[in-house]
Amino acid sequence: MDTKTEHVQCLIIGSGPAGYTAAIYAARANLKPVLYQGIQPGGQLTITTDVENYPGYPDGIQGPDMMIDFEKQAKRMGADIRYGLATEVNFFTCPLKVQIDEEKWISADSIILATGASAKWLGLESEHRLNGYGVSACAVCDGFFFKGKEVCIVGAGDTAAEEALYLSKICSFVHMFVRRHEMRASKIMQQRVLETKNIKVYWNTELEEILGDTKTEAVRIINNKTGEKTEIPVSAYFAAIGHQPNSEIFKGWLDMDESGYVKTLPGSTKTNIEGVFAAGDLQDKIYRQAVTAAGSGCMAALDAERFLSMLEHPVPSDHLGVTEEE
Ligand code: NDP
Repeated sequence: MDTKTEHVQCLIIGSGPAGYTAAIYAARANLKPVLYQGIQPGGQLTITTDVENYPGYPDGIQGPDMMIDFEKQAKRMGADIRYGLATEVNFFTCPLKVQIDEEKWISADSIILATGASAKWLGLESEHRLNGYGVSACAVCDGFFFKGKEVCIVGAGDTAAEEALYLSKICSFVHMFVRRHEMRASKIMQQRVLETKNIKVYWNTELEEILGDTKTEAVRIINNKTGEKTEIPVSAYFAAIGHQPNSEIFKGWLDMDESGYVKTLPGSTKTNIEGVFAAGDLQDKIYRQAVTAAGSGCMAALDAERFLSMLEHPVPSDHLGVTEEE
């Protein structure tokens, strides 16, 4: 029953750099934004360590600290920041509607979606069964529990390299399984990994199974060139094989690519639904950086502001000219 609908001008879903930046800009434009933080307030940066490439922090900053700053700034500008998860949407209606925590509906004149992306898993049964018992997709969150122990990690991108280095400082030894003969990570990160004495990189190696009844005790790996299988005793396995966009609840409403990334009009954050804008990793599978997410959050707020002012003051049809989108 839709008895508890609250109406807002600008609703923002998600609290990573994209969501908070959108909130800062929307608040300063007096759109009175309401932002729902989602399941992981602060987003992916809350599970990372040093951020050295966000401009304005010459000495680097810890990801969680940076997100606290983003939130503070959005609040100071007047954004209404709330706990809550978007659980359903209805984009047929006008105004648009979003359900929060499976009960309360919010109607909105404009919506900025910035729900980001989540870690991918290999899809092993044992990965699911032992999740939380030595299986994790976040070294920064869970590495501490395996202090002084041998652990392993799968992946070869910057995340895997960063997490392997992080683990090497806490754990006694890190086995890193790379499925190809090379890493995708940036050269500097690869170099750091390869120079770290307690990290061993296994090339052309895939994780076949995590072994253990009630907790992770070992992993079985296979060399995909030779077919040789090996069991390695470890206390934990960390997945670091990339991310997928958090776009499940928008399926059927928004145009997406084959991986589930929301499509936006080139050069804007507009989706196929009028008044719905997408920013950050939800719509970006190429750059996926905090600073690019923040930039697209800014774009989304400007797009929403422009959309709302058009709603208030529609341009008479005989004044409509050809725009850059046509
Ligand atoms: P990426 O998509 O860059 O890398 C994923 C890695 O996981 C690849 O090496 C891939 O292997 C491997 N992989 C995928 N599926 C499997 C599988 N089933 N089995 C084994 N390995 C698998 O993701 P990241 O999360 O590392 O990085 C995402 C983006 O964020 C990148 O642009 C990265 O540069 C950026 N980033 C930047 C950081 C920084 O600047 N501090 C820190 C972390 C990330 P393969 O190479 O064979 O495809």
